[in-house]
Amino acid sequence: LKDERESLMIVSGYAQKYFTRFLWEENEGRTIGLSYFRERGFRDDILKKFELGFSPDGKTPFTEAAQKQGYKIEFLEKTGLTIVRDDWKRDRFAGRVMFPIHNLAGRVIGFGGRILKDDPKAAKYLNSPESEIYHKSKALYGIYQARREMARADKCYLVEGYTDVLSMHQAGITNVVASSGTALTSEQIRLIKRFTTNITIIYDGDEAGIKASMRGIDLVLEEGMNVKVLLLPDGEDPDSFAKQKGASGFQEYISENETDFIQFKTRLLLKTTENDPVAKARLISDVIRSVAVIPDTITRSVYIKECSKLLNVDEEVLYSEVRKQKRKQN
Ligand code: ATP
Ligand code: MN
Ligand code: MN
Ligand code: MN
Repeated sequence: LKDERESLMIVSGYAQKYFTRFLWEENEGRTIGLSYFRERGFRDDILKKFELGFSPDGKTPFTEAAQKQGYKIEFLEKTGLTIVRDDWKRDRFAGRVMFPIHNLAGRVIGFGGRILKDDPKAAKYLNSPESEIYHKSKALYGIYQARREMARADKCYLVEGYTDVLSMHQAGITNVVASSGTALTSEQIRLIKRFTTNITIIYDGDEAGIKASMRGIDLVLEEGMNVKVLLLPDGEDPDSFAKQKGASGFQEYISENETDFIQFKTRLLLKTTENDPVAKARLISDVIRSVAVIPDTITRSVYIKECSKLLNVDEEVLYSEVRKQKRKQN
């Protein structure tokens, strides 16, 4: 089993080198893939840092090259790089720009591939399937490139997508990882916890992003970690917004608009409650539900103080609400 994992990592490493070489050195890669990245404003040093690439269009150009180098079709299939059926095979990522996903040690364990022209009939991103080496619920895009700065800064930014990670690096913020489309899991949070206990969520400024932030907040709190949130203007994601603001403007926006989760939740929920006491009660129990999942008593009491001030409700009332919620959660 260990040998099998190693074989899958070796073939994934070969694929990454093939896709990267193709992006920089082949005419098709340069005119299609490299131009795409450059039109989106990504600098060469960022493309190299993340070992981005291009998978040539066609039925099996990659698979044939790999087999010619002696890589077995069994491992090409198990990594999902080649789709194999009884009477045909084809390259999974043909015609896509490639984002290799690394583990903590820097080995390639999977890929995301983006289509070049947005097309409602085709998936914008394709990902490697689950395998011996790639479990999407455990992987975090960018963890390898972020790990040192996460520890040094004692903080991690959490974003949704591949290009958000790239743009944050380009803006000089390198302690950033992405859950890459899958719903955030506690395994991913625990991976971050090996480096820092402080997470700031910067999801897309849309309905889905706000919902996902709410869920993310509770997951982080359950692990006993601190969570802040940054809400982006509607329709923006960290990539688009960093490009609009420029590096220093973006950094400034972050430091000015980062809020702790209590403020984030109350602000969003207050918008909908106004002076309705029933709605306000619902807001309070919603915020308190998050406070109740915090394992540490002292941390909990700090947040209860803040809630009490923000919502203008007695601390005692909030404590009894926490007890009620904890009974429900158990
Ligand atoms: P881009 O800026 O290249 O359009 P994005 O990262 O802004 O991409 P979103 O639609 O915001 O794309 O999605 C966030 C993340 O979710 C993506 O980076 C990708 O990891 C994942 N994702 C998006 N669409 C799909 C899809 N159709 N299938 C699988 N994963 C997807
Ligand atoms: Mn989105
Ligand atoms: Mn996005
Ligand atoms: Mn985007």
